[in-house]
This record gives sequence, C-alpha cells and structure tokens, in this order.
Amino acid sequence: MEPNQNIPLLTRRSLLAAAAAGSTVVLLGRRPAQAYDVLIDPTAPQLGDTISVVVIPKDPGAATAPKVTVNDTTEYPTFPIGGNRFRALIPTSPLDPPGRTVIRVIGSEDTRNLAVGLRSRNFPTQRITLSPGQSDLGTQQEFDRIAAFKRTVSPEQYWHGPMQRPSQGRVSTEYGVRRYYNGVFAQDYYHRGVDYAAPAGSPVAAPAAGRIGLVGRVSEGFELNGNTIGVDHGQGVLSIMIHLSRINVNEGDMVQAGQTIGAIGTTGASTGPHLHWGLYVHEIAVDPAQWRNGGFG
Ligand SMILES: [Zn+2]
Repeated sequence: MEPNQNIPLLTRRSLLAAAAAGSTVVLLGRRPAQAYDVLIDPTAPQLGDTISVVVIPKDPGAATAPKVTVNDTTEYPTFPIGGNRFRALIPTSPLDPPGRTVIRVIGSEDTRNLAVGLRSRNFPTQRITLSPGQSDLGTQQEFDRIAAFKRTVSPEQYWHGPMQRPSQGRVSTEYGVRRYYNGVFAQDYYHRGVDYAAPAGSPVAAPAAGRIGLVGRVSEGFELNGNTIGVDHGQGVLSIMIHLSRINVNEGDMVQAGQTIGAIGTTGASTGPHLHWGLYVHEIAVDPAQWRNGGFG
C-alpha cells in the first residue's frame, strides 16, 4: 500500500470539518498524486548486479529527465528509452555494503524515495604471492587513457538485447574473485571482469554493438593491460578487452555484436593466453552474467 492512498480520506474529513464550521470551503485541488511510476529491476539485487531504474512520468507533457541518486551520495543520469520513459542504470560491485540502499528519483514535479535490499554474495578467493616490484607495472599514460575512457557516457544506446560471450574459450576466472596478496586480504581488489582462456590468436568478438572508444597498444605504454580495446555501448555502459595479441579496429569505428575486433593474446601482465573482458557501468565493473542472460533492452 502506498501512503498517498490515505489522502482522499483525510481530504474528505477536512471538508466535512470545514462544512461543519460553516466556513467557505476552498478547494485547493487534489494533492498531486505521485508524478512518476518507478520500476526497479531486479527487485532483489545482489552485489555485482546492475540495477535498472525506469521512471514513467504520469504527465507525459511535463516530463523532463529526472535525476536518480543512490544513498544520497552518487547521482546517475537518466536517458529517454522510448514510450515516454527514462532509465538510470546503477552499478553495484563486491565493494558495496550489502543491505538497505536508498534510491531517490528527483524530478521537476516530485521526488520518489525507494529502497532495495542489496543482497550479499560470496565470491571465490585467490591467494597470490607477489615478489617486490611485481605490483608497479603500468604507465601514467596507460592509466590516464583508461580512466578517460571509463568516464565516457554517450547518450545513445548502442547495445540491443542480451550481450554475447566475447570468446568461445572456457571461463578461467569468474567475475568478482577476491584476493589475498602475501596473506593480506586486498580490501579494494576484486576481479573486475571475466577471463576466457583460449589459444593465442583465437578471435575476440564485440559482446554488443558500440563505438570503439579506446585502442591502446603495448608500444604506447600499455604495459599492465597489454593491447587493449574499449567499446562504448552507450549510456555509460562500456567493455574493456585486454591482453590482446591483435587489434582489428580503430578508435571511432562502429562495431556490431559478434564482430571480430581482435585476437586473444598474453600481452601486458598476463601469465598465459586469455581474454579479460571487463563490463563497466558508470566506471564500476559489474557482473556481465546479468547482461548475458537477458540484459537491459
Ligand atoms: Zn581477468
């Protein structure tokens, strides 16, 4: 039941009270009902899930894009998705605190407050022994270019339907694996993607349509990630494919789902041929499983 369902009763009571007192009743008009319907999917998300917040204004004429905030700390953009609806995509990760998560939809006519219970989830762990010097791979230009790519938010939605697996190789490391380095739990580490093991030279496909937003090569300082392709799927959804042996695309190219964009390799910090596919939503690496099994339109 929604709190506003009480309002007609209260209004009737106050009208009766006003009539009993003999005063002139001024109808202020109905208190506006909530100006938006909001659909949250999934309704019981778990760590690593992407949460879709669809906002449906009840008055189509007055509709401007609302803002969506999470726990009053982070704001996410909404984009029109047809049918007079707007959608925000909210990333979650293994680093988020599970439990009550407040989603606020702030529009010009109304604010809706909703809460979801973010479910905890157990991720596998790995124990890694690092020798001195092994942890400082990577160059500043590599980090800067990857960081700039991750901030990309194109208004278009390039992806359609569920995403495809980018490699036919077997999954060698799942999303979300946590690590101990030299016996110490790494608070900020989780495996920010899915690894597929396959022979060097095996094709790497775009998991969904998009625009190539980043091509980085070992020769340009990509010593940690190796040869790298970033695909902008639009609306803050991005793929990053790393450790490639070959790159078939250029920045600015538009690619289709399933199109071969490169080949598996072991460039950068890698111990054997594999593809690491990171799927990012607003700079946070999310679990691709949900996007593979159904996706978001
Ligand atoms: Zn990986």
